[in-house]
Amino acid sequence: MLGAVKRPRRLDRLPEQYFMRLLARVQEAAAREGEPLVDLGRGNPDVPPPPHVIEALVASAREQTARVHGYAPFSGLPQLRGAIANRYAQEYGVELDPGREVAVVPGTKSALVELVLCLAERGDTVLLPDPYYPDYPSGVALAGAELRLLPLDLERGYAPRFDLAARDRVAAVFLNYPSNPTAAAVRDGVFADAIAFARDTGAAIIHDFAYGDLVFDGHEPRSFLAEPGAREVGVELFSMSKSFGMAGWRLGFVVGNAELVGRMTTLQDHVRAGIFTPVQEAGIAALEGPQETVGERTRLYERRRDRVLTAVGELAAPCEGTFYVWIRLPDRLTPERLLEEHRLVVAPGEGFGPAGAGWARLSLATPDELIDLGLERLSAALQ
Ligand code: PMP
Repeated sequence: MLGAVKRPRRLDRLPEQYFMRLLARVQEAAAREGEPLVDLGRGNPDVPPPPHVIEALVASAREQTARVHGYAPFSGLPQLRGAIANRYAQEYGVELDPGREVAVVPGTKSALVELVLCLAERGDTVLLPDPYYPDYPSGVALAGAELRLLPLDLERGYAPRFDLAARDRVAAVFLNYPSNPTAAAVRDGVFADAIAFARDTGAAIIHDFAYGDLVFDGHEPRSFLAEPGAREVGVELFSMSKSFGMAGWRLGFVVGNAELVGRMTTLQDHVRAGIFTPVQEAGIAALEGPQETVGERTRLYERRRDRVLTAVGELAAPCEGTFYVWIRLPDRLTPERLLEEHRLVVAPGEGFGPAGAGWARLSLATPDELIDLGLERLSAALQ
C-alpha cells in the first residue's frame, strides 16, 4: 500500500544521520572478536544530574493529579520560563522577558531544526560554521534551503570569516561557542561581527549555547545575548543537557528575539503538546537551586581535558570548553584504523563538515579509567 504513495522528497534531502552511522559502525566493530572497544566517540554526559533535581522529578511525579499527569501548558510552565530568565540575569547578565523572549523546548536538538523551518524556505541560504555540529544541516534540508559554509579561522580561535561568507538571501547563520566539535570558546568581537553581518544582510543569528557553562581555565560563560543588539537579530539555544547532566530528560530553551521565539511557539503549538510537568518542575529546581554542581562538572571535564592534552600534545586544537578535544590526526592514522587496529572509537572529523577532514573528536564525557585506556591506545597508534 505504502509503496503506491510517493515518498516526499524532503526526506531524501536529509543527510545520513552522522551519529546513527557512527553507532552502527561501532556496533559492527564491537561484534567482531578482539579487546572490548573504548568509546571516546560519543558525547553523552556520564555524570548524573544533581540529587535535588532528581528528587524534584520524583516528588512531582508522585502527585496524583491531572495538573501533573495531564497535558502541560504547551508553552511551558510560566515558572520555568521565569527560572531561565532569572538564571540568564544572574549568570550571564542578560535580562529576558519570560513571556515574550523564552520558548521551552524538549531539548535543543529539535529546536535546531525547527528554527530553520521558522526562518528559511526554498531559495534562501543558511550558513553553517565549518566545522559544524552534524545536526545543523537537517533543518536546512527539510526547509529546502541551500546550505553554505562559513569558514572558521583556526588561527583565531575558530572565529568566523564573515568576509568570505555568502551574503545573498541568507536567512540564518548558525554559531556555536563553546563549539562542538572544536572546543573553542568565543573570542572578543565575534558576536559583534555576527550582529553587524546580520544587520547588513538581514540574516538571523542562531547561537547554539548548548555547552555555554562548560568553559575552562577560569573563564566566564559568554552569552550571545549579552552583546548589544543581539536580541534584535537572533536567538540563543540553552540546553539542560550539559550544564546539569540532563541529556535524557529533553529540556531546553530558545531565548532572545521575540519575533522568532513567537514563531517557534506557533510551530510548537502545532506539533507538540507540552513537556511532562515533573520534567519541567525538576528543571525549575535545577535552574533555581544551588549552582555549584555546574562548576564541579566543568572542573571534572577540565581535569580530563588536561589528561588528554598531556597525551596528545600538539595534535590538539586549543581546548577551551565543552567536553571534547579536537585533534588533527597524522596522515597515516584514520579513525577507521583506530577502530579496526586499536579498538578505539573516535568521532571522525569529516562528519562535521569539510574542514573536519583529517581531524577527530575525542569525548571527555567518559569515566577517567576509560579515557586513560583510550589514551594508551591512541599513544600506541601514534608511535
Ligand atoms: N548543540 C550541540 C552543539 C550539541 O552537541 C548538542 C547535543 N550533543 C545539541 C545541540 C543538542 O542538545 P540537546 O538536544 O540535548 O539539548
